[in-house]
Amino acid sequence: MKDAGEESTAHAADDHHEVIIVGGGMVGAALAVLLGEAGVEVALVDARPALLDGETVGCGRPARRVSALTPVSQRLLEGLKAWPWMAARRVSPYRYMRVWDAEGSGEVDFSADEAGLPVLGHIVENDVTLAALEQRLTMLPSIRLCLGARVEGLEGGAEGRCIVLEDGRRLSAPLVVAADGARSHLRDLAGIAVSERETGHVGLVTTVNVEVPHGRAARQAFLPTGPLAFLPLAVDGEEHHCSIVWSTSPDEARRLADLDPGALGEALAAAIDHRLGAVTVLDEAVGFPLVQRHAERYTLPGFALVGDAAHGIHPLAGQGVNLGLMDAAVLAEELLTSRRRGVGLGDERVLARYARRRRGDNAGMLALMDGFRLLFGSHHPALTLARNLGMGGVDRLIPLKRILLQQATGQRGRLPATCR
Ligand SMILES: Cc1cc2nc3c(=O)[nH]c(=O)nc-3n(C[C@H](O)[C@H](O)[C@H](O)COP(=O)(O)OP(=O)(O)OC[C@H]3O[C@@H](n4cnc5c(N)ncnc54)[C@H](O)[C@@H]3O)c2cc1C
Repeated sequence: MKDAGEESTAHAADDHHEVIIVGGGMVGAALAVLLGEAGVEVALVDARPALLDGETVGCGRPARRVSALTPVSQRLLEGLKAWPWMAARRVSPYRYMRVWDAEGSGEVDFSADEAGLPVLGHIVENDVTLAALEQRLTMLPSIRLCLGARVEGLEGGAEGRCIVLEDGRRLSAPLVVAADGARSHLRDLAGIAVSERETGHVGLVTTVNVEVPHGRAARQAFLPTGPLAFLPLAVDGEEHHCSIVWSTSPDEARRLADLDPGALGEALAAAIDHRLGAVTVLDEAVGFPLVQRHAERYTLPGFALVGDAAHGIHPLAGQGVNLGLMDAAVLAEELLTSRRRGVGLGDERVLARYARRRRGDNAGMLALMDGFRLLFGSHHPALTLARNLGMGGVDRLIPLKRILLQQATGQRGRLPATCR
């Protein structure tokens, strides 16, 4: 791998690449590894000044930002040889999911056995996933890493693309991929419109200790103000830590974040009917505004969006980064197939195939999350009754449960070969 330091000397004139990826979050980094493993000359550009410190991530108290990774995402990360590093550091398997309506009696339980899988997924600190991918990036000679480099301009079209960094440097390639997150500047520079829907929720995240072992179950209570998730963490082999994502109104989130840790712990314990006994808050609670977004198109000639730059989804089903990793796997599959046939990487038809395979799947998941949010956000007695009857029905209806399990574990549609 070439790094930004080398760039100023040996590679000063080397500004042309096969692919430029802007954004080295989990999605951009996964795409870079997928392409780098096939020898594609990739420039990975990120505004962050340095790679994560692989020595410290995943040690000590768990980080606040975690994701529920599906078995399909795990398979992709295994294929990228990132998973063994993650597993050696810290990943927390969960075998059960319990979802209930705090306003009524409806409850649904899912288990890995019902899904025919060893686990339903893993809760993993985002930094653990990213550090593992970064370790892989540093081993790939065709990757040029440009850190501390903010992208301010995008030029060109079908004939090739050029990005302009804030210090005036220019990099060019037939294809620029924007993996620069929810507020993607590249998406705006490319003139791609995005539909946005306020969810009316802020996601409050923190880490807690629970008195009763979580038993490797992910729990989610649908409260009148929004869903509250207790995600099980395995720390030093014990089952007393959980990561919290409490989606609620901005006012309520502010009120909760301002509580002292003791009072917040009591509020959390009460909100899940004391199912895990006393709750001790270990970290400051921080809020993230939750906006559902979908780009009106994913590609233009020589340009593609992946991950949160393409779609933002309510975290109630823990799908965001899983959808992004699928974008990366499908885009890499289409690009590598075409490259073997001698077709240019910025070719519109190649990119259109990627967009066709991913946009519909992502739109379906966004609509499903909107439906859940509206159904569970309503106080109308008829809807309260309907969802309690519905939850009871789901718990008894094996085929419907199987479909929901397939959604939750990522096994839907035509999976790329790297995820099968
Ligand atoms: C509260 C909460 C809980 C969540 N829980 C889950 C979950 O359980 N499961 C799940 O799958 N997902 C979850 N998500 C979603 C998940 O965190 C995101 O989908 C994921 O982090 C997006 O990754 P990304 O790589 O697309 O973008 P990002 O992680 O946002 O990375 C973007 C990168 O681009 C860089 N960048 C931005 N602009 C520029 C620029 N102009 N120039 C250069 N670099 C730039 C940034 O430095 C950054 O490194 C959750 C989200 C929230 C808010």
